[in-house]
Amino acid sequence: MYRSHSCGELRASHMNTEVTLAGWVQKTRDKGFIIWVDLRDRYGITQLIFDAERTPAQVVEKAKTLGREFVIQVKGHVIERESKNTNIPTGDIEILVTELTILNEAIVPPFTIENETDGGEDLRMKYRYLDIRRNPVKNNLIFRHQVTMQVRQYLSDKNFIEVETPYLIKSTPEGARDFVVPSRMNEGQFYALPQSPQTFKQLLMVGGMDKYFQIVKCFRDEDLRADRQPEFTQIDCEMAFVTQEDVLTVFEGLTRHLLKEIKNVDCDEFPRITYAEAMQTYGNDKPDIRFGMKFGELNKVTQHKDFKVFNDAELVVGIAVPGGASYTRKEIDKLIEWVKRPQVGALGMVYVKCNDDGSYKSSVDKFYNQEDLAQWAKVTKAQTGDLICILSGQKNKVRAQLSALRMELADRLGLRNPEEFAPLWVVDFPLLEWDDETERYHAMHHPFTSPKPEDITLLNSKPGEVRANAYDLVLNGNEIGGGSIRIHDTATQALMFDYLGFTPDEAKAQFGFLMDAFQYGAPPHGGIAFGLDRLVAILGGQETIRDFIAFPKNNNGRDVMIDAPAAIDNDQLKELHIQLDL
Ligand code: ASP
Repeated sequence: MYRSHSCGELRASHMNTEVTLAGWVQKTRDKGFIIWVDLRDRYGITQLIFDAERTPAQVVEKAKTLGREFVIQVKGHVIERESKNTNIPTGDIEILVTELTILNEAIVPPFTIENETDGGEDLRMKYRYLDIRRNPVKNNLIFRHQVTMQVRQYLSDKNFIEVETPYLIKSTPEGARDFVVPSRMNEGQFYALPQSPQTFKQLLMVGGMDKYFQIVKCFRDEDLRADRQPEFTQIDCEMAFVTQEDVLTVFEGLTRHLLKEIKNVDCDEFPRITYAEAMQTYGNDKPDIRFGMKFGELNKVTQHKDFKVFNDAELVVGIAVPGGASYTRKEIDKLIEWVKRPQVGALGMVYVKCNDDGSYKSSVDKFYNQEDLAQWAKVTKAQTGDLICILSGQKNKVRAQLSALRMELADRLGLRNPEEFAPLWVVDFPLLEWDDETERYHAMHHPFTSPKPEDITLLNSKPGEVRANAYDLVLNGNEIGGGSIRIHDTATQALMFDYLGFTPDEAKAQFGFLMDAFQYGAPPHGGIAFGLDRLVAILGGQETIRDFIAFPKNNNGRDVMIDAPAAIDNDQLKELHIQLDL
């Protein structure tokens, strides 16, 4: 038996018992006649004491050789600690050691294994196994486990079955590039790693599985943005014989369950807004509704004067910043610079201070009088003391810019409290999205999403206006889940592929299996997938997903610990029938 107890377990009630502990040396304090060692394992820290008067001399000698992160085993008695440590649960006791075994020595770690470490991100990633010994990372992994256990419990109680789907498949179109895997046995042919199990979960519905879920890795070869991982985990779900309402009810239930069990937060029914409303009110399809600053569209009350910038704009839109009237000229100039950064891309910003005496002071006083400005305050719901920030230009661009400003200001004003949770559904997404680059429509969600039946007639005349039976679950400004009701008949699916520019032959070659399956009695079905990494990070009150993943990739998609991706040797290439032309 390596250990009788863990390092987080012993209390005053264990006094005088003989115990065996094993773990890592966190730190040693050698006072000559007494040596203290903090012994650490996953469960906590227990203080060991080697006392020249009570511990055998050779054991004390051995204790003097211990270095940080040595792996040791000790036998001893639980005794009362003279100076108690109220910061840790084991702080009332210590172990008077009688036997010490060094199980393994350790070289000096490249950073301190403490809650606050001196190791930078790169070093921590290279030695991730040491990083995992630190409480913040370890606790995040345990937290993730708790979330996934709750997910499995909840869905299983609701009769969902977890089914594994294959990783070596053919392309699934979720809008990114595939990672491909060459086949040794099929010369010149490749598998693709799934961007999601989309087609398989639909086939499970045709197979009668009815309620499916899977906590599953997905792979997308995208240009990496900060805090994106090329492999990530989804809670992937599908149900048969359901309408959109049924899907929303079940997964609102799951989310509410997680918030309750994990955070002890009770939520009212989740608000629902349409995609169109979200874009109009927040400039964003994943709005953070923990705070106001809703958009006020100002075209009507700004385009009647000689101010050309506004008159030429497709959209003039503003937000009221609480307390912003007190910003100095310099602070406002900085804000204007901020919106002009290339990442945001606004050409400028008009502002109005709503002074305490009820008057207004704007950057466009030359063109507008007090009555005009009072109208703007009304539309943006600005109060005295607020600052109205106004952007103008092409609708979609301006919305994105003002949304970025809204989020930035909320961050600065401390309005994004990570311990507050504001979930909502965004529904009625457009079915199709115009892509300037390829000059054609793409499926906004994916090609299996069903159009709203009442909008199908618009497909020919106004394809951009066709709404889909698609929905996103948004939490604190993040899309944490998205899904749709699917097409379940061959004719509509063929029509959809046609719109997306597939010839019938191409559609057959890529998705013939699905269209065939639909001919054998496919039930109406729909589902959703949650991004588990992000969900866990938000529930954990953090914005970055990396520390909730045991072995994440860096921003260049590299695993710096194992040094992947890497070249493979020529024999392996040959076997795979691959010739590199470098
Ligand atoms: N497969 C979709 C995705 O990965 C989710 C869904 O439609 O269920 O986003």
